[in-house]
Amino acid sequence: CGIVGYVGERSALDVVLGGLRRLEYRGYDSTGVALVVDGSIASAKKVGKLANLDKELAEHPLPASTTGIGHTRWATHGPPSDRNAHPHVSADRRVAVVHNGIIENFADLRAELEAEGFEFSSDTDTETVTHLVDRELRGDAPDLTEAVRRVCRRLKGAFTLVVADGEDPGRVVGARRNSPLVAGRGEGENFLASDVSAFIQYTRSAVELGQDQVITITRDGIDVIDFDGQPSAVTEYHVDWDA
Ligand code: GLU
Repeated sequence: CGIVGYVGERSALDVVLGGLRRLEYRGYDSTGVALVVDGSIASAKKVGKLANLDKELAEHPLPASTTGIGHTRWATHGPPSDRNAHPHVSADRRVAVVHNGIIENFADLRAELEAEGFEFSSDTDTETVTHLVDRELRGDAPDLTEAVRRVCRRLKGAFTLVVADGEDPGRVVGARRNSPLVAGRGEGENFLASDVSAFIQYTRSAVELGQDQVITITRDGIDVIDFDGQPSAVTEYHVDWDA
């Protein structure tokens, strides 16, 4: 229901949790975060309110990181539970995915992946995206952006995706179709979120994505392409209201 992504110099955990807190008003049944740490994904997720995740993180702290993603879930596929909470992380802990919306053709994709030996650890439609991105990265995709772009072309439905690659600490990739995603432009840091209120305390310079676009944020910039891989126009605007 709410999504946040961050690459920069601050504690990604603090930025992501703060952003999720600003999105709480949208309602949710579970929460989670993933960070890029030492060539891999470190993550925590919990059913229930953000306070449950705070408690989990206090008991089992995650290492420091400046690249992270987070999610508040409103379950559509699979009941609210720890295992169905996002992020969904690949078995090799390379890929972490958060998702708002519905992957309508997930059953076909899941059957295809299971036939290839991918093991699922949740009941969600979202987890198909995790394995598809992992398969592209282990295959010939040159980077996470291209892996996500290829996967988006196979998805039906309405989705906002935000994805991190444990082996690429300077990058977070988002994508959208029929579901909202905005970027925030900072200096030496950039943000992704389902709503500007998640990052408005850090920057008021926002980038609104169009339909069927893939966005890459790094510390230094924002790059947007369409699902065909062509450079794509975005709407830049200044947020002048108080969240
Ligand atoms: N369809 C996904 C799930 O059930 C995402 C739900 C959401 O938008 O939070 O996990």
